[in-house]
Amino acid sequence: MLPIINLYTCNEALDRLQDYLDHELSDREALLVKRHLKICHECSKKFAFEGQLVSFVRGRVQEEALPEGLMERLSVRLAQADD
Ligand SMILES: [Zn+2]
Repeated sequence: MLPIINLYTCNEALDRLQDYLDHELSDREALLVKRHLKICHECSKKFAFEGQLVSFVRGRVQEEALPEGLMERLSVRLAQADD
């Protein structure tokens, strides 16, 4: 019933977030991250958010194409980072 490979915990998945977005993980690590995201809604949201952030930073010449609500979420995030 359980998959043969181990699943990551949230911390393990989040530790690899940046490398995952940069496509610098090994195939095995990327697979483990993907599996965690399938079962963990919280991390899945974080990864999606960071992914949007990366796309935004890399593609900021196309400002019209910002995902709806991204700027609000960025503001919230920046506010939280001040704590
Ligand atoms: Zn998680």
